[in-house]
Amino acid sequence: MAQLKTKESLSCYRKYHPPGGSNIQTIKLNAIFIQNSLKKGYTKEHEQMKFDLAWEAKGNGENFLTEAARSATDEERELFKVKKDKIVDFVNLSQQQEYEIVNKHENHKEVAYYRRRGIVPIIVGETFVCKVCNYKFPKKNKKGVCDNCKNE
Ligand SMILES: [Zn+2]
Repeated sequence: MAQLKTKESLSCYRKYHPPGGSNIQTIKLNAIFIQNSLKKGYTKEHEQMKFDLAWEAKGNGENFLTEAARSATDEERELFKVKKDKIVDFVNLSQQQEYEIVNKHENHKEVAYYRRRGIVPIIVGETFVCKVCNYKFPKKNKKGVCDNCKNE
């Protein structure tokens, strides 16, 4: 098991728990949990991105969790229709950085939310850069304007 060293990293680590709810202290860090559910957006591309992030973290000697659960904020409860926890695709515990792997099906409002909260969205599949806000989004149409800018 990886060493949990500083007080700062401990408090970051305590924020998350692996899927199923067991305590982080009792599980092996740096394990990749995958899902296979196209319906829920867990495509092969989506799941392979977890591996890529894990590979990079491992190379840097950093600790990570995939499918990390943490308490959802009020905004997240509403936006993602979750009751208690928000599942984060990938958390680099050493960097204290959350990553969300974004598929085509995910709406632009969610992508904008991630950016606003300092969560890094990684879009798999085709993307486009919005002509108005200049941010990258999953490609849905040919208009070149994201849903957030379109609705303003
Ligand atoms: Zn935009």
